[in-house]
Amino acid sequence: MRTVIYPGSFDPLTNGHLDVVQRAAKLFDRVVVAVAKNEGKHPTFTLEERVGLVKQAVKHLKNVEADSFDRLLVDYVVGKQAQAIVRGLRAVSDFEFEFQLALMNRKLNENIETIFMMPKDTYTFLSSRIVKEIARLGGDVSGFVPVHVQAALAQKFSGVKK
Ligand code: ADP
Repeated sequence: MRTVIYPGSFDPLTNGHLDVVQRAAKLFDRVVVAVAKNEGKHPTFTLEERVGLVKQAVKHLKNVEADSFDRLLVDYVVGKQAQAIVRGLRAVSDFEFEFQLALMNRKLNENIETIFMMPKDTYTFLSSRIVKEIARLGGDVSGFVPVHVQAALAQKFSGVKK
């Protein structure tokens, strides 16, 4: 059984994240989308909300599940009996940070591999931060996130002054 962990903030999940999930689901027997608590990043959505949005987005994918974690990633990966970590690479700008993270994780546990997946080209400009900014200002995010995430964004930002 080959398991891969896809860790991230998912604040909230976008179609770019989903694209990576779908690609990973074709390569691995089991994919765990692991939402990091990340208090320090002051997420817009609570941990429960972020996990809930992921759960709904992946429910049609039989070998994908949603979970949360608040510990050292490599320890979480071992605990889940996974062999690898998958991360998305959008552009060169992602590379330096991702490279550092992957090598550090390898230092911490050399048995765990990190693999990178490139999303469909139309999603390379997508980020949770940009999607939130557009939604906050009342813009249309329908092409960027699943419908239920769009609804959650609208609710989160209702009452916010434009
Ligand atoms: P983090 O805070 O850990 O970077 P994110 O939720 O922002 O969490 O991203 C999780 C992973 O998904 C990262 O590897 C990031 O590069 C990747 N990612 C984010 N947006 C996209 C996208 N549009 N296409 C492909 N990968 C993406």
